[in-house]
Amino acid sequence: MEMEKTMQIIHSPEALHSVCAEWRRQGLKTALVPTMGYYHAGHASLISYARSVADKVIVSLFVNPTQFGPNEDLEAYPRDFEKDSALVRELGGDVLYAPEPENMYAPDHATWVEVPALANTLCGLRGVCTVVLKLFMLAQPSLAVFGEKDWQQLAIIKKMVSDLNVPVEVVGRPIVREADGLALSSRNVYLTPEERAQAPQIRKSLEMAAGLAAGGERDAARIIEAVRGYLAEHLPTGEEDYISIVDPAVLTKVDRIE
Ligand code: AMP
Repeated sequence: MEMEKTMQIIHSPEALHSVCAEWRRQGLKTALVPTMGYYHAGHASLISYARSVADKVIVSLFVNPTQFGPNEDLEAYPRDFEKDSALVRELGGDVLYAPEPENMYAPDHATWVEVPALANTLCGLRGVCTVVLKLFMLAQPSLAVFGEKDWQQLAIIKKMVSDLNVPVEVVGRPIVREADGLALSSRNVYLTPEERAQAPQIRKSLEMAAGLAAGGERDAARIIEAVRGYLAEHLPTGEEDYISIVDPAVLTKVDRIE
């Protein structure tokens, strides 16, 4: 009789480690999809991809406190464990790893992994690197799947894995978007209807920038000014954090686009 496919929900790091160690011993190919939950079709695309290439799929769901700044949205971050676990089950995940913060960080936790050269002026990702490396050590997956939406995160994790000889293949997958072009994001629930209506202009401004570069504009400052002007006109409720043009692999700012 064929066994019905089951999904295990695991909360402790030790249990995750031993389940994954057993799969490795059996020679199975395992894929890890790290997430913070509140799933949408972007997450689903990563899990389905993992399902299509690996024997065993591990999805981690952890709102990682160390990657939120003191004034960021850790408490408010949207959560729906019932819906998320149902989706992972439906998509054929084998393990949903959902630790509590105290399972992942002992009170005397003192070790951090960071890639300062790539952190640059963009968001620092020390909390992300540290938690991803911890997940890699626990699950020791053959591959790990990330979305290209968080390009800096993907570039920094690739660099960390390369610099530290971490034996995990890091795979980036395309951005899944709403019909009007807005990238799906758990944080889109924060948008008011007015902001939601204007948000696709961010992508339009980036497409305009790409069009200028494709048309021969090489001066990054001129493209940034054009984007700034476009957003001032089309996204009047928005407030600029930064607009930068960077090398896609090392994330350093470029003045001329080659
Ligand atoms: P998060 O739960 O927001 O930390 O995201 C977990 C993973 O899903 C990360 O690798 C993200 O880059 C990826 N992801 C989030 N949104 C999308 C999207 N719209 N398309 C593709 N991947 C995404």
